[in-house]
Amino acid sequence: MMLYVRSRSRKITLAMITAVVIVYLVNIASVSNEVWKNPLWFARPNPPPPNAQQQQQNRRHDNRIFVGHSGKKNISVEKIEGASKLNHNLPPEYRVVHLDLKGAPPKLSFLRVLFPLIASAGANAVLIEYEDMFPFVNALRNVSARNAYTKSDVQEINRMAAKSQLEVIPLVQTFGHLEFVLKLEEFAHFRESIDFPQEVCPNHPEVMTLIKDLVMQVRALHPESRYLHIGCDEVFHLAMCARCSAELRASQMHQKEHNVFATDPRFNIFAAHVARVARLVRDELGMIPIIWDDMLRQQGPRLIGSELTNLVEPMVWVYTDDITRLVPHYVWHSYASMFPNIWVASAFKGASGEQALVPDVERRMANTAAWLRILSGEEVTGRKVRHFRGLVLTGWSRYDHFAVLCELLPSSVPSLVLALAMANSGHAHHSDTVAQTTISLLGCGMDMRYNRSQLKK
Ligand SMILES: [Zn+2]
Repeated sequence: MMLYVRSRSRKITLAMITAVVIVYLVNIASVSNEVWKNPLWFARPNPPPPNAQQQQQNRRHDNRIFVGHSGKKNISVEKIEGASKLNHNLPPEYRVVHLDLKGAPPKLSFLRVLFPLIASAGANAVLIEYEDMFPFVNALRNVSARNAYTKSDVQEINRMAAKSQLEVIPLVQTFGHLEFVLKLEEFAHFRESIDFPQEVCPNHPEVMTLIKDLVMQVRALHPESRYLHIGCDEVFHLAMCARCSAELRASQMHQKEHNVFATDPRFNIFAAHVARVARLVRDELGMIPIIWDDMLRQQGPRLIGSELTNLVEPMVWVYTDDITRLVPHYVWHSYASMFPNIWVASAFKGASGEQALVPDVERRMANTAAWLRILSGEEVTGRKVRHFRGLVLTGWSRYDHFAVLCELLPSSVPSLVLALAMANSGHAHHSDTVAQTTISLLGCGMDMRYNRSQLKK
């Protein structure tokens, strides 16, 4: 956040935000209550509703697109040199909050408070990653954890989301990160590598039966959803089994014989499976499939001509503030020329180490601000992206199925609300009104001085 501190007033804002986070953490630590279905943790159960008058004032201020503080008065973006060159794709069409439920599914009473809060802060969708917290049935019944949601719980989550005007985008893994399925003996034969339970073998003769069962069960409990995130990130073990390695060798041989090396044979195995799943999602479920982009990113220009470009919408994820280093201009150029719609993702929690206790708010702010600069067109991305569909604020609960929990959701609510206030502010720079909005929504601004004095005792 120091990157954005350019004046005394900014430092004051930084101090205010830091104080808010401290006060909030003290508050949640003081209240042990039933928040989780797995009752291990605590959280503030009922954040006070935001003051309506303050919210209205903040919205009015944000509509004026303030970009900073000169020391005496705010300066509108129109007065900044070069501002007219911005694309003004802000706020993003979709402001999505990612709920990673693995290992820590909140109780419905917690979500009943959280949903209106994030909606007030500007969210209009939730990306729900159930993993083993979904109530799978029939052949998949053993996949569900013992503290998984019930069918009626999921229906209630849909109702609560609709009440807060939050569109639900379910996420179900269909290639990698299927540890929650492949760890079970009854599904181990689907593994690409018998030693690793991460990926299914895309050439296993019955793998699509398994994937179809997974996605159709999730679809059945989300009949209103338009998008389905099908994962497909970090598929590290490709072409390791006998079937896939034989296909790889044949493909490599074919390339040598014809002297054609335009595509990566290993990636083609990945792409063929994703395409099968994407067609299933589009044709049989009537949904638009989204995938994480990291496997595509490695291909860059070699993606041209891939059938995936007509089947999926990529979600480009980077959780640092140097996005253009990790997604260079030539990747943006490829993406922009091939995908009509692109999602992007920052992180409000769960990206600072797998044993971190609370989010590093400074780094999380810098991450979201960096994405907002990309969306605004202020940061160069090469060829102009036709349509940024939206910004997803990811909130990782653990780094994979077997990892410990990190940065629990209740302790990360200030970081989440701050990120949403930034995304919803309509500009790519941190402002005083964002801080004021965050303080107002968290309901702890008036108590800040009192609580700070309490901390010293
Ligand atoms: Zn295989």
